[in-house]
Amino acid sequence: MKPIKFNSNCKSNSYPSHFELLNSDYELFRGKYFTDKCLDVLKTIYLNSQLLLTHSATGSLEIIAKLLKLQIGDEVIMPSFTFVSTANAFVNAGATPVFVDIDINSLNLDIDLVEKAITSNTKAIVAMHYVGHPCDMDRLKSICNKYSIYLIEDAAMGFGTSYNGEPLGSIGDFGVISFDITKQISAIQGGLLLVNNKSFVEKSNEIYHNGTNRMLYENGDIPYYEWVGEGSKYQMNELNSAFLYEQLMNANETLCHRRKLSVMYFDSLKDLADKGYFNLMAQNLVSDNVHAFYLIANSKAERISLQNYLKDNLVEAFFHYVPLHTSSFGIKVGRYIGADLTVNISDSLLRLPFHAGVTDNDVKRISTLIGDFYNGE
Ligand SMILES: *Cc1c(COP(=O)(O)O)cnc(C)c1O
Repeated sequence: MKPIKFNSNCKSNSYPSHFELLNSDYELFRGKYFTDKCLDVLKTIYLNSQLLLTHSATGSLEIIAKLLKLQIGDEVIMPSFTFVSTANAFVNAGATPVFVDIDINSLNLDIDLVEKAITSNTKAIVAMHYVGHPCDMDRLKSICNKYSIYLIEDAAMGFGTSYNGEPLGSIGDFGVISFDITKQISAIQGGLLLVNNKSFVEKSNEIYHNGTNRMLYENGDIPYYEWVGEGSKYQMNELNSAFLYEQLMNANETLCHRRKLSVMYFDSLKDLADKGYFNLMAQNLVSDNVHAFYLIANSKAERISLQNYLKDNLVEAFFHYVPLHTSSFGIKVGRYIGADLTVNISDSLLRLPFHAGVTDNDVKRISTLIGDFYNGE
């Protein structure tokens, strides 16, 4: 029996020729030839945002944290059920993370709790779109307007999905997308920063360009550039851009396959879910789902047994985040608002293999295995 891996490489068949091209000419490297080509594609998706390709979504979040000029005691609201980068960027800048519980349907921020979490120290809300499923951005926007705080989208998993027709990452004041190898479209390592709030365009460019006014120089506005503020080196490596370019060109195909997989999983597991063996990802999220497919077992013990059963049958499946508010550093630096849902979901959620190499037959084999597990075979 062939093993079914949880994830597989994104492919770039043109990478060798892209590399040869770059290697033939210093100016192509220096001129960020493929970074510019990637940006040209991205500009057709994100029409109204300033776009900066970065070395990671983590780096993009760090630029945002610098832009907000956070002080000790400032608070940033975010879900506890997220990757550490969501919190690290703001904690590194001196802020206190305020972790909020999630909503049972989307596994995104519970917005009723978000409003309860706001204090006079709140500077921003980070809306993390779990596996690319959109948060209720209208409600979050109106809360942010009401309290004059910034709205940041951690759309690290959100490439290819949208909210009311607007691509994720382009709706808040800022957004980040990840092109890490674990995401649906990949540069192997890379990220995107979307600056949607126009008042931060110039400053974000400074921080991105090592704290210089290089953007003005590149636009021909000034004769040379110099050091004007804080910053660092956040740019995407040109080799990563050369890899990403083909991924972006083929993005529709990749995303279509993933949407199909998602529907296949849902259809083939629905009967078992209806029997109460487990819960599936909410049906309204299935057809636009491009990042991951998950089920929610009835307990932690059951999730672990199922995971082991699949592993014994050569199918890799994984849980997701350890809640930040229960992790050893999160306990020290943050506070938590909510009940037990984050912990329960962290215990019982299981993600199934989801990538370009997963076929119809693989989905059938996996759902048959899951059926066998619950029917005690
Ligand atoms: C992957 C991920 C990140 C980090 O992205 P990198 O590009 O690896 O830095 C941040 N937040 C979330 C929610 C993620 O899934």
